[in-house]
Amino acid sequence: MTALTVVGGGIIGLSIAWRCVRRGLRVTVYDDGGDNGAWFAAAGMLAPAGETSFGQEALTGLLTESARRWPGFAAELGDDIGYDRSGALDVALTSDDLAEARRMWAYSERPEPLTASELREREPALSPRVRGGAFRPGDHQVDPRRTVAALRAALGDAVVAKRVSTIPDGPTVIAAGTGTAALTGLPVRPVKGLVLRLRGEPGLLRHVINGYVDGRHVYVVPRADGEVVVGATQEERADTTVAAGAVLELLRSATDLVPELAELELTETVVRHRPGTPDNAPLLGHWKDDVIVAAGHHRNGVLLAPVTADLIADLVRTGRPDPLLAAFTPGRFT
Ligand SMILES: Cc1cc2nc3c(=O)[nH]c(=O)nc-3n(C[C@H](O)[C@H](O)[C@H](O)COP(=O)(O)OP(=O)(O)OC[C@H]3O[C@@H](n4cnc5c(N)ncnc54)[C@H](O)[C@@H]3O)c2cc1C
Repeated sequence: MTALTVVGGGIIGLSIAWRCVRRGLRVTVYDDGGDNGAWFAAAGMLAPAGETSFGQEALTGLLTESARRWPGFAAELGDDIGYDRSGALDVALTSDDLAEARRMWAYSERPEPLTASELREREPALSPRVRGGAFRPGDHQVDPRRTVAALRAALGDAVVAKRVSTIPDGPTVIAAGTGTAALTGLPVRPVKGLVLRLRGEPGLLRHVINGYVDGRHVYVVPRADGEVVVGATQEERADTTVAAGAVLELLRSATDLVPELAELELTETVVRHRPGTPDNAPLLGHWKDDVIVAAGHHRNGVLLAPVTADLIADLVRTGRPDPLLAAFTPGRFT
């Protein structure tokens, strides 16, 4: 039986390891432990159309393919990971915001436009001030913390708490998020993101809300248990400071859209770092000798976990890259 080492036990490394075990490989995952990874902050939006900009066709294709694989991935992992297919609403507060949302729709799979009253029929907690928006039935959500817990449970003793400082001998997958740069020298940079977690009675909201609020963007992600995630900032910084002004801005935008959020308990402010690359698309494939890299998933690592896991597990087993990986070779910037 082939033995594989995976460095990094975030959502990507664990998903790859789980898929490899299911294909009959013996796997050890080294993770420096705890909740350092970006997955710990991630809202868990699975938004294949809403997240890429013009000119990123290969990435859009990968996101769409991974969204298609999520139902099967979630079903195999079990029903305790908060996978929810209620869809998302784009919601614009002012007429300028609505004009901006419409411009964004031109770059994505066109969502179903909704008037203000149609939006409030679907989500009565929305402010009477909202001007309009759209429904995105294909945007789903999952709880990344519960997904990581389910993957860790499925892998059991295969996950070992250890910080790796040099690449191990033998077949290895480096899936260390922002830690990939120190191990490989590849250009993966930290992109700081702050999210807030609120808690109230379940049922205030049913859909993920993508808000356009006075020129700012905010998202509000309701979980079935009453948790609501509000995010996110995006800054080219490596520090972990929670700036009071950033919290204020997120809360102001969120409560402009859904005033009742102000009544909820603020339970967490969390900063983590998205692993960004020069083109903000992931590095996926052979890097050198026995080493494969799967890192740099930036804003979409939760969404991209199923397709990454399948394609990298196949690559480990067969040595042949799937054509879908062609645009994402780790060496493309050298
Ligand atoms: C605020 C925020 C919101 C987000 N929202 C979403 C979202 O809604 N949807 C979405 O799809 N994505 C979202 N993301 C992005 C997503 O979280 C990341 O793309 C994803 O977590 C990347 O997964 P990863 O496993 O590569 O890295 P990580 O999740 O960062 O995990 C890397 C792991 O490797 C470990 N590690 C690093 N170096 C070493 C080493 N030398 N030895 C051992 N272990 C090591 C780390 O401790 C960590 O556990 C968000 C991210 C942030 C920060």
